[in-house]
Amino acid sequence: MIFLKQEDTYKHKGMRAKLIDELRKKGISNEEVLSAIMKIPRHFFLDPAFDKIAYQDRAFPIDEGQTISQPYTVAYQTMLLNVKSNEKVLEIGTGSAYQASVLAALNAKVYTIERQRKLFEKNIKSYPLKEQYKNIKFYFKDGYQGLITEAPFDKILITAATAIIPPVLIEQLKLNGIMVLPLGQEGKQIMTRITKLEHEDLQIENFGDFSFVPMLEGKN
Ligand code: SAH
Repeated sequence: MIFLKQEDTYKHKGMRAKLIDELRKKGISNEEVLSAIMKIPRHFFLDPAFDKIAYQDRAFPIDEGQTISQPYTVAYQTMLLNVKSNEKVLEIGTGSAYQASVLAALNAKVYTIERQRKLFEKNIKSYPLKEQYKNIKFYFKDGYQGLITEAPFDKILITAATAIIPPVLIEQLKLNGIMVLPLGQEGKQIMTRITKLEHEDLQIENFGDFSFVPMLEGKN
């Protein structure tokens, strides 16, 4: 399947503005993150059948049994990552490329890895914002291996549930770099922020409970 050409109408922009209000009420206060979310037409990343509900604060199914994250989750992870212009950000779990687009709207240099060939190819063929965002590179790989050719990264964002902190990804993080990941077993994970300190020390902070699809090994 490829992305169909969709339009971003006033109606969509209006629904998006309402979503932003909802995220604010739920405690997302970072204006840069909110304005990045306002810039990205989420309905472009969903099947046209979802057009009218694309701006509900919910996860939705995409191909290959995967999901596009809930906007609140995207906002929350992005806020914890504290992305600055021109930082190199590695995302594990491209999925629909919605989260990657929010990172691109923050002017990060985005490298995003997906293990499902079909999802990867869809983005290669028809990523819907290719004219606006040249700062995203897509890779078909196992995220547990990271991306040695582009390492080290300022920030790493994992958007699938992992029961362990992947050691290779810690290696590929710069000193004082930050990794955000949902840590835990299938079902429920704790949003975790790791800051890489000197002497291989890690500062680990825990945030709320979230639920992601699992981070699986290998490619498919
Ligand atoms: N960030 C996505 C949502 C991700 S859902 C979005 O904005 O739409 C999680 C994604 O992680 C799925 O597409 C899944 O296939 C992918 N994934 C799972 N394990 C992976 C791994 N080891 N490496 C790369 N991607 C992985």
